[in-house]
Amino acid sequence: MFCNQCVQTAKGTGCTTVGVCGKNEDVQGLQENLIYVLKGISAYAYHARELGAVDEDIDAFLAEGLYATLTNTDFDLARFLGLSLKGGEMTIRAMELLKAAHVEAFGELEPVKVTTGTLAGPGILVTGHDLKALDELLKQTEGKSINIYTHSEMLPAHGYPELKAYKHLVGNLGKAWFDQKRLFADNSLAIVATSNCVLIPREQYQDRLFTMGIAGVPGARHLEDYDFSEVIQTALSLPPLPEEAAETTLTTGFAASNVLPLADKIVAAVEAGQLRHFFLVGGCDAPGKGGEYYRKFVELTPDDTVVLTLACGKFRFNDLDLGDIGGIPRLIDLGQCNDAIEAVRIATALAEVFDCGVNDLPLTLVLSWMEQKAVAILWSLFHLGIKGIYLGPKPPAWVTPRILEILQEKFALRLTGDPEGDIAAMIG
Ligand code: SF4
Repeated sequence: MFCNQCVQTAKGTGCTTVGVCGKNEDVQGLQENLIYVLKGISAYAYHARELGAVDEDIDAFLAEGLYATLTNTDFDLARFLGLSLKGGEMTIRAMELLKAAHVEAFGELEPVKVTTGTLAGPGILVTGHDLKALDELLKQTEGKSINIYTHSEMLPAHGYPELKAYKHLVGNLGKAWFDQKRLFADNSLAIVATSNCVLIPREQYQDRLFTMGIAGVPGARHLEDYDFSEVIQTALSLPPLPEEAAETTLTTGFAASNVLPLADKIVAAVEAGQLRHFFLVGGCDAPGKGGEYYRKFVELTPDDTVVLTLACGKFRFNDLDLGDIGGIPRLIDLGQCNDAIEAVRIATALAEVFDCGVNDLPLTLVLSWMEQKAVAILWSLFHLGIKGIYLGPKPPAWVTPRILEILQEKFALRLTGDPEGDIAAMIG
């Protein structure tokens, strides 16, 4: 087995120490963490670049951070904590860059109800995170009697005016990314996977699965230059989808631009004792029972609380109707994982309105961890000095006992436990 710090085997030629070059496991953990952070930043920077938005400082940090993980003589834990925090700062920058590019290209988000059923006729399903790809597909399918559906993290696309304007963008199918094998096999659709979180396909649908950009899996055809002609031909050759009524309707399209105009209502509700607490429940989802925590948590939130959410973890509970508090929706979907920047903007603006720090707001962040972007976002919150975050359903593998101790000391990080007890502690 190769040591992950150099190209020698752990006990191989030239390596006189056993495993990871004698490096302490905490430094190694933070180096691995840094690689995840860099992958997360890269994802946002890649999609921003597709829309023509670039930032030299982000690019410089990607080089510095990646190069730093090559160093096998550096045992300085503080240095890697510092690099992780700088990674958090660059994550904020990358999210801001991408958000501005999305708004410039597709308009300011508007709350929208999205249906989850199918319409009779041929269809194409788009999964991943790439809004530019969806836009290009919508242009190329206009007037061809093909319905376009979004999957998972593409749901927020329905809230952008320029995308919503296409009448053949008809709905959202499925839930978080890991339902894809069943969903793709069961529905007679051509499928376009635009980013990570695509799985090696089952035989039943590999001939109608297309990848693009950084996505690529065996058996799927890879598209270049946003040319969807093969996808269109495939969709038209498949047996048409039947009409199936929606089981539920999802609401998405919230952002600071449409939540902050409610600030007066929010202040009045807080002052009148009608709104006691905000929760941000978001992050990546993963298969398994651990994610059930988040549905139970949201179900148990008291009626005088508001739940902000983002990323695919929300599919555990975004079918719930939580109602509203005097016109303030109790469930506010801010979008994809990169839209965490909207939660930051809302929290910062509310802190200004209430004349306090973000940590003094009646707000608790309850995050789910799964992949790289969630790690990058976690460090962006640490960079902003946000404390008392709950993380679950289990800590990332790079969190050694010593790193956990440091994160608890510096940022009061907590691990999720029992939803009822957690809510009581948060509100208390
Ligand atoms: S939120 Fe995370 S796990 Fe979910 S689709 Fe996006 S990157 Fe993948």
